[in-house]
Amino acid sequence: MIACGLTLTALTAQAQPAIPRDNALEAKVEKTLAKMTLDEKIGQMLELNLDVMGNMKVKNAKVDREKVRSVLQQYGRSAEEVEAMTKMTDQEIIDKLGSFPIDIYQGETQREWQLNETMLDTLISKWKVGSILNAPGTRAPSVEQWQKWIRLIQEKSMKYLGIPDIYGLDHNHGVTYTAGGTLFPQPINMGATFNTELVFKGAEITAYESRAANCPWVYNPVVDLSRDPRWPRVYESFGEDAIVNAKMVAAEIRGYQGDDNNHIDRFHVGTSTKHYFAYGAPWSGKDRTPAYLSPQMIREKYFEPFKAAALAGTLTMMVNSASVNGVPLHASYEYLTKWLKEDLQWDGFLVTDWADINNLFSREHVAKDKKDAIRIAINAGIDMSMDPYSVEFCILLKELVNEGKVSMARIDDAVRRILRAKYRLGLFDEPNTGGKGFEKFGSDEFATASLKAAEESEVLLKNDGILPLAKGKKILLTGPNANQMRCLHGGWSYTWQGSKAEDLSDKYNTIYEALCNKYGKDNIILEQGVTYNENGAYYDENEPQIDKAVVAAAQADIIIAAIGENSYTETPGNLTDLWLSENQRSLVKALAKTGKPIILVLNEGRPRLIADIEPLAKAVVDILIPGNYGADALVNLLAGDVNFSGKMPYTYPREINSLNTYDYKVSEEVGTMAGAYNYDAKVSLQWPFGYGLSYTTYEYSNLKVDKQTFTADDILTVTVDVKNTGSRAGKEAVLLYSSDLIASIVPDNKRLRDFTKISLEAGETKTVTFQLPAKSLAFVGADGKWTLEEGDFLLKIGNQQVGTACSKTKIWDTPNI
Ligand code: BGC
Repeated sequence: MIACGLTLTALTAQAQPAIPRDNALEAKVEKTLAKMTLDEKIGQMLELNLDVMGNMKVKNAKVDREKVRSVLQQYGRSAEEVEAMTKMTDQEIIDKLGSFPIDIYQGETQREWQLNETMLDTLISKWKVGSILNAPGTRAPSVEQWQKWIRLIQEKSMKYLGIPDIYGLDHNHGVTYTAGGTLFPQPINMGATFNTELVFKGAEITAYESRAANCPWVYNPVVDLSRDPRWPRVYESFGEDAIVNAKMVAAEIRGYQGDDNNHIDRFHVGTSTKHYFAYGAPWSGKDRTPAYLSPQMIREKYFEPFKAAALAGTLTMMVNSASVNGVPLHASYEYLTKWLKEDLQWDGFLVTDWADINNLFSREHVAKDKKDAIRIAINAGIDMSMDPYSVEFCILLKELVNEGKVSMARIDDAVRRILRAKYRLGLFDEPNTGGKGFEKFGSDEFATASLKAAEESEVLLKNDGILPLAKGKKILLTGPNANQMRCLHGGWSYTWQGSKAEDLSDKYNTIYEALCNKYGKDNIILEQGVTYNENGAYYDENEPQIDKAVVAAAQADIIIAAIGENSYTETPGNLTDLWLSENQRSLVKALAKTGKPIILVLNEGRPRLIADIEPLAKAVVDILIPGNYGADALVNLLAGDVNFSGKMPYTYPREINSLNTYDYKVSEEVGTMAGAYNYDAKVSLQWPFGYGLSYTTYEYSNLKVDKQTFTADDILTVTVDVKNTGSRAGKEAVLLYSSDLIASIVPDNKRLRDFTKISLEAGETKTVTFQLPAKSLAFVGADGKWTLEEGDFLLKIGNQQVGTACSKTKIWDTPNI
C-alpha cells in the first residue's frame, strides 16, 4: 500500500514563521546590522551584473547588420531606430551595443570577457555592492573560471565590507552557466514525470555543481504556471496546474537547500523561487505584458506554488516583471509585504527581476522617474534591486531615506533579510566553495540521473501499433530538430537563448546520433527537409528542401519527423501564430503522400498546433525539451528498452480559439441550444492535461473514500487499486481529481488535488492511498474568502469516480487555510 502524505501547504493556517527562527543566527544578523552605515546597508540592497566589472574584448569584430536589426526588433525598437543603428559604422554599433549580452557579430568574431579588478574594487569599496549576478555575455565559463572570479569578489567583499557577496546564477535546469556540468530536462519535462523524487534529485545535483563553481544562489525554481501556450516561458515551469507546481517546488527546494534552511551546507544552495506571481498569464500572450485575473484565480492558483515555496523555506524570491489587474508586482505592497511577508511570516528576501524598478517608470508608467520608482518598490517590499548596469540606486535610495520617504525601519528590514540569507548559506564562515570534495561535477552518475529524468518525461501521445520500433528497418529521419543539440537542451543552456553553444554541447547525442547508435548508421537516412536559420531569430527557417526528403523516403520503411521549435527564452521567444511552422507541416504532409508510416517527434517549448498533421501520423511522441540526454532517452523509449510513463503537464490545444486549461469552468463548454439560436462553445483539445500512453495498460478499480459526509476539519482517506494489465513493467502517475458539483460561484469542472507515481510489474496490483484534507476542497468565494460549501463532490482517479458530501458550510476569515 502506498500512502501519499499530502504536503500541500494550502492546508495549514500560517501562524509560525515559514522557516523556524534560529536565535543564535538572528543574533549574528543583528550584530552585523548594528555596525553598518547607511551606505553599507544600501549597498547590500543592490545587485549588479558581472558584465559591468569587466570588458568584453572582441577579436576580429565584424558586425552582422541583420543580427543587429533582428535583436533591435525583438526588443521592440522603432523602425527608425533600427534603420539609424544599422547605418552606423561597426565601431559605433559596438560602442552602443557591445556591452550587452547579445550577439551582433559575424561568425568568426571571438568574444572574450576580462574582469577589471580596479572596477571591481571600486564597486565594492565605494558602492558596497552586496550581490552580483550572471555570466559575462551570458555564456557559460568553466568551473575554474568561476572559482577565480567569485573568489576575488568574496575576497574584496570580506576586505571592504566584512560581509560576503551573494552571487546568483540562472542555473535553471542544471548548471546553465557552468561549462561541463549536468543539464537536466527543462522543468516542463520534470512536470511531465509527475515524479517529485526526480525533481528532488535533479535539484540536489544542480546545487552540488553550482557550489563546485563557487556559486551559492540559483534563480530557480520557476513556478509561473504554464497556462497560456502562447507565452515563451511555458517550458520553464512544471506545467499548468497549481498543485503539481506546489508539490514540485517543495521537492525542488529540499533538493537545492537541504534539510536545514537555517544552516545550508557547502553542497547546497539558496533558491530564488520566481517570478512572484502570475507572470505566466499575459493577456496578450507576449512576455512581460499585463495579466488580468480574478481574485479566485490569483489566490487559488497563481499564489499556491509560491506559498508552497515560502513554507518550504525558499531563501529568496524574484518578482514578476509585469502587472496583475493594473498593479505591477514590483509596486504591490499588498502582494509583496502583506501576502508573503506578513500572512506567511516568510523572512526571506525579495529581489527584483532584471532592471524592473526602472520599468516602473519607463514601461509601466506608475512612477514619474527612477527615484519615484525606487520609493514605490522599496516601500512595497522589494529588498534587493537587480539594477544590472548602474549604481544610481544607491544615490537615489540614500536621498529618499534622508528625505524621510523611505524609512530606516524599511531599510533595516530589507538588509536584515539579506544578511539572514547570507548567514543561512554559511557565507560568513565559508565564502568560497569548490575544489576538493566536488569530484562528482559532470560525472556519469549525474548524467544517468538526467537520462532517467528524460526517459520519464517524454510523452507517448499516439501509437497505432507502430511502436516499439523493431530493429532492422530503414528509417528516414527528417525535420529541423533531427540533428542539433540546441533544440534538445533549449533556452537557458550554456547561453541565455541556448543558441551558439554547439562547442559546449558537442559531446552529447542529437536524435540522429542516438538513432544511429541504437539502430546502426546504415539504417538511418538523414534528410531534414526543413532546417532552422541559426543566424536568425529562433523561428527563422532556411529555404525548405522538402523534395529531397520525399525522394529519400523511397529508401525507407519508416519516417521519423523531428519537428517543433528552436531554442529561445523570454521576449525573443514571443510568437505571432501558435501553429507549427508552415514549412514543417508541409514537410509532414508531403511525406505522408509517400504512404510510408510516420512517427512525429515533437520537440518544442510550448504546444504548437498540429491538428492538420496529427491524423497523418501512426505515432506521436512529445519529448518537450528533454535536455542533453533527451535523444538517448527517446531512442530507448522508441525501441521499447524503456517504457513510457510521462503525462502531459499542460493541455495541448487543437484550435487557436480553444486555449482551455484542464480546470476550465463547467460553463466554458456549452452544447448547442434548441431553438432559433445556435449558441455553442466547445473545448477542443488535441490532448488533455495528464494524458500519456505506455507499452502496457493500467486498470483502475475500487475507488473508495472513507467518509460519505465530511466537514472542514476531516481528512478523507481515498484509496484506489491500480493493476498493470499488460505484459511489461511500467510506471504510472496516479492523479486524484475532485469536482464540486454545485457551488455559489461557477465551479471548475475538475481540480487536481494530489498525485503520486508508482511502479508496477506486469500483472501486479497496488493500492494507492491519498490522505486528502477536506478543506483542500474549498474555493475562494465571491467575497474573497476561502469557502467550503455544503453539498456533493465527486472524487475521480482514472476512469473511476466516487461521491462524498460536505455536511456543513465553513467560511474562513484567514487569508490562507
Ligand atoms: C529573467 C529572470 C532571470 C534574470 C536574471 C531576467 O530577464 O526574467 O528569469 O533570472 O533575468 O538573469
